Amino acid sequence: MPHPSYREARIPAYEMIRFSITIQRGCFGGCSFCSITEHEGRIIQSRSEGSILREIEEVRDRVPGFTGVISDLGGPTANMYRLACKSREVEAACRRPSCVYPGICDNLNTDHSPLIGLYRKARALPGIKKVLIASGVRYDLAVESPQYVKELATHHVGGRLKIAPEHVRQGPLSHMMKPGIGTYDRFKELFDRYSEQAGKEQYLIPYFIAAHPGTTDEDMMELALWLKRKGFRADQVQAFLPSPMASATAMYHTGKSPLRKVKRQGGEVATPKSPKVRKLHKAFLRYHDPDNWPLLRRALERMGRRDLIGYGERHLIPPRQPAGWKPKEPRKRFRTQHTGLPD
Ligand code: SF4
Repeated sequence: MPHPSYREARIPAYEMIRFSITIQRGCFGGCSFCSITEHEGRIIQSRSEGSILREIEEVRDRVPGFTGVISDLGGPTANMYRLACKSREVEAACRRPSCVYPGICDNLNTDHSPLIGLYRKARALPGIKKVLIASGVRYDLAVESPQYVKELATHHVGGRLKIAPEHVRQGPLSHMMKPGIGTYDRFKELFDRYSEQAGKEQYLIPYFIAAHPGTTDEDMMELALWLKRKGFRADQVQAFLPSPMASATAMYHTGKSPLRKVKRQGGEVATPKSPKVRKLHKAFLRYHDPDNWPLLRRALERMGRRDLIGYGERHLIPPRQPAGWKPKEPRKRFRTQHTGLPD
């Protein structure tokens, strides 16, 4: 509960967690831009079913404004509950930074039935109308359990499910330690099939990162073309920022990848750092925004991809601005002086 001194103030972070329940700590994903594996641990700590169900009842009975909808049952990842290495000894000795990259480790138990059982018990509690899943679904794990995807699509999605492929090109994905986009397609197929079977019109909302170490202008252009082909128009986009303890931060600052043996010569990772390049990479993600077209036109011409400028289906952006378009006033910004990060 917020401190009483806030009185009636609306606190966005509180709104988000008010009716949500944490079911586990830790993540064995090891995505290089994220430090959860470092600060919460790679070995998942799962709460007991009884403890989770009691907390749901407590939210139902004591949190003001509860309408019967639990907004999330999750954690750093929605679907790592009770997942672990098959052997405690191997797990203790293992030094792999991820159990799921470059592929799912043979030693990993990917049985989603404890999580499915938990979902069923949670939604059967008296006074609970709906249990939503808002934490990020690790879709490469989810496709290992079609029954889980069915349960999710049938009962736990409020129309849109956010997931994070982060990119579509192998270069940036390998620096992020994320699975290839083919896994996203397999998940989408299952999700669409089960949504249809449940008679629900539901969508996946994929999230992407611009300007991650190892991302080139061509990678962002290909991502923009993929977005256009799939009919996605992102409202908000995120550009990589180096945060403490993430291995991508080491790439950002050293220009070398700690994911491979670091040598004095070679192994450089091209990192988009300058505000100009970062702006361009973000602009590719919002290729549909006329404010970005002048910048994208110049970039496509420089990249020798004039063929992508036009009014056809295969074109990314039109050759002219819409009638009446005016450039926006540049926003005033504060410089982040002490960290050396770009504006
Ligand atoms: S052996 Fe595989 S499943 Fe076990 S801890 Fe290592 S990477 Fe994870």
